[in-house]
Amino acid sequence: MIEVKDAKEMKTEPNSVFGNGAFENHEQVTFCYDEESGLKAIIAIHDTTLGPALGGTRMWMYKTESEALLDVLRLSRGMTYKAAISGLGLGGGKAVIIGDSKKDKTPKLFRKYGEFIESLNGKYITAEDVGTSTTDMVSVRETTKHVTGLPESMGGGGDPSPVTAYGVYMGMKAAAKKCWGTDSLKGKSVAVQGVGHVGENLVKHVAQEGAKVFITDINEEQLKVIAAKYGAEITGLEEIYDLNVDVYAPCALGATLNTENINRLRCAIVAGAANNQLADEKVHGKLLSDKGIYYAPDFLINAGGLINVYSELKGYNRKAALEQAEKIYATTLEIFKMADEDNITTVEAANKIAEQRIQSAKSVR
Ligand code: NAD
Repeated sequence: MIEVKDAKEMKTEPNSVFGNGAFENHEQVTFCYDEESGLKAIIAIHDTTLGPALGGTRMWMYKTESEALLDVLRLSRGMTYKAAISGLGLGGGKAVIIGDSKKDKTPKLFRKYGEFIESLNGKYITAEDVGTSTTDMVSVRETTKHVTGLPESMGGGGDPSPVTAYGVYMGMKAAAKKCWGTDSLKGKSVAVQGVGHVGENLVKHVAQEGAKVFITDINEEQLKVIAAKYGAEITGLEEIYDLNVDVYAPCALGATLNTENINRLRCAIVAGAANNQLADEKVHGKLLSDKGIYYAPDFLINAGGLINVYSELKGYNRKAALEQAEKIYATTLEIFKMADEDNITTVEAANKIAEQRIQSAKSVR
């Protein structure tokens, strides 16, 4: 047997926690289990340099524990960058509950989950995410105060989508300013993929400004409603990539932009709400840049949702949240400038600014 003399020499396995490719210097990873309620959760705290780690709780029927761990680690690191680039006094964290959100949810499970969050003494603050809702956060609130995403009737911010959409709109306008020298979208054409909570609000903003809007969605009913409401033109699920438009806004799922469809794009700008919209951040950030397309990084311009829940910590105020989201305009311009000056992609520039903010806070400490 090989003798291990110090902790650094210890071998880590790919599926373990420290050896996980997505571990990336996480501060703390907490595994939560309760037999009675059936709770199986993982809370990942990536970095608390700038403040407590705020990130939603995803409930998902993961196929394996490794898959759940990988997801929570990736998401949690992403929250560190999103909070830092948005200038919020927050760190990055995220949690996953392993289970079927349609069948396995009970108030008891969320109360137990709240107890685990409470035990972290405010180092992690939760909110809703895919598979969880404001109603679930009300159950979590019974056992911990470290929860946001509560209904407006309880002093919370309610549905964050209008604030998210407003931030995306600001990012899109900043990209327009960079591209055409004016941020007006009047007379421009915008294609929106996914007209759900955020997509609909984005369509409203751009249509109100006088843009010609094209929309697509797998939900045909929703598509018809939005087209009639805002005078948008319906286009096909695949056809959207080939449209001769000024702006393409992915607002459906993550990882939709890949080498094949980026090569089909004819737009000047990509700016949308979907999380992790590039299948590979490095490869596709570069491809967009090589094609001369101005890309407004997703984690910067969709930060309105985080801004909205952050605002709850100080006593929720929708106006203040929208004002904070408006700053996305200036940050997007800053990123385009840095990308030009340093000859890097906008994704790299956004990551660099986020890392600089964390590093300078560390050195002040
Ligand atoms: P949503 O579920 O309300 O809307 C998504 C829409 O996309 C739905 O109408 C769905 O039918 C459609 N869709 C799914 N697959 C599609 C496909 N292949 N082609 C076209 N349409 C498709 O979700 P949302 O809250 O509007 O969020 C949209 C995106 O923005 C997600 O990626 C989400 O992670 C991200 N986001 C949302 C918020 C927020 O505040 N809601 C904040 C940050 C990021």
